[in-house]
Amino acid sequence: MTGAAVPTSSLLFERAASVIPGGVNSPVRAFHSVGGTPRFISSARGYTLTDADGNSYVDLVCSWGPMILGHAHPAVVEAVQRAATGGLSFGAPTEAEIELAEAIAARVDPVERVRLVNSGTEATMSAVRLARGFTGRSKIVKFSGCYHGHVDALLADAGSGVATLGLPTSPGVTGAQAADTIVLPYNDLDAVAAAFAAHPGQIACVITEAAAGNMGAVAPLPGFNAGLRELTAADGALLIMDEVMTGFRVSKAGWFGREGVAGDLYTFGKVMSGGLPAAAFGGRAEIMNHLAPLGPVYQAGTLSGNPVAVAAGLATLRAADDAVYAALDRNADRLGDLLGKALSEAGVQHQVQFAGNMVSVFFAERPVTDYAAAKASQTWRYPAFFHALLDAGVYAPPSAYEAWFVSAALDEDAFDRIAAALPAAAHAAAAATPEGFSA
Ligand SMILES: *Cc1c(COP(=O)(O)O)cnc(C)c1O
Repeated sequence: MTGAAVPTSSLLFERAASVIPGGVNSPVRAFHSVGGTPRFISSARGYTLTDADGNSYVDLVCSWGPMILGHAHPAVVEAVQRAATGGLSFGAPTEAEIELAEAIAARVDPVERVRLVNSGTEATMSAVRLARGFTGRSKIVKFSGCYHGHVDALLADAGSGVATLGLPTSPGVTGAQAADTIVLPYNDLDAVAAAFAAHPGQIACVITEAAAGNMGAVAPLPGFNAGLRELTAADGALLIMDEVMTGFRVSKAGWFGREGVAGDLYTFGKVMSGGLPAAAFGGRAEIMNHLAPLGPVYQAGTLSGNPVAVAAGLATLRAADDAVYAALDRNADRLGDLLGKALSEAGVQHQVQFAGNMVSVFFAERPVTDYAAAKASQTWRYPAFFHALLDAGVYAPPSAYEAWFVSAALDEDAFDRIAAALPAAAHAAAAATPEGFSA
């Protein structure tokens, strides 16, 4: 199969690069680690993305997670249109904000109070500030390969785009901002115990992805999250479960719904705003009530609780019933089976990994349980795999370090297209060489 022509995307990318750094508003979109021209998207519906040249793709990125119902879902679009007609922003409270907060608290048991913000980054930044304000402690623990947005103190050894671009952290983060961040290997409870032993009474919180999805899909090993719960509680530190990616995707109640380990604070984003910019953090009332105006920990936002974003989130959560979650699980299993079958037939060493219904492919000999193993995998096989899929009309994440996201909109036709595209892509991955690609 020959690659689809993308002259319009190429022109747009050139034009974008002369006014937007790297031509994109979030780094992974630039295709740096896979090469080639990012597709400029003109529209999307159901499981289909259409680019500016009129090519269509089966979308396995889903806006990096949010679009569990598929694109332009009628109920969500209708709710957004209705909200927009009623006014775009008031800077004053609305009833819909209560409904969204209630919907979140109803789904995730440990969450008693919710504050809405505008992005996952803001949610984790605010949760960490609150944890520090509540405990009166400075240090925080995060895990290598976990991404919590581009918060200064949380960029150290982060996954996602930071991993894609091979950055250890970021210039612009001062020593002081990073000094209180202790970075530990994911899935290593002994390391966490050692950190608490070395810094008793000084660690405000441990922040973890409830199941890691930003170094590829790497689920917590059995007992890891429960161990974090015990170690934090024993020292009086808080456990922040970052469910920005997993929340309302991997089950009705996110990863909590699958595992049942309660965090003290939660962060949400992506699915809960249905593709518009909104996010949230929440937790026990005793902790959340330290936020202004009740308490001294300051946090605010001009557009927080924006009525259009809230409408999209509410409509998405209302439509995301048991049937949708069953479809997401089924579609992830089916995708994983197809990936595994094609790669096995092509004779390339691989692991198809799941974290709930998030999927990823590692070109590795053994299951990947931490960032060191993810980085040691044969990521150089990924660009060939990715581009063969893209050329055949399947849009996988443009980075070896990202999870693949299914929607409930995938149907027989979508899976036929994926199944048709995979054998050639798997052979391209098998034929790839470490020298074959340079960014
Ligand atoms: C996407 C993500 C974030 C950041 O959310 P933004 O809305 O991109 O700022 C934080 N944590 C996790 C686990 C994420 O996947």
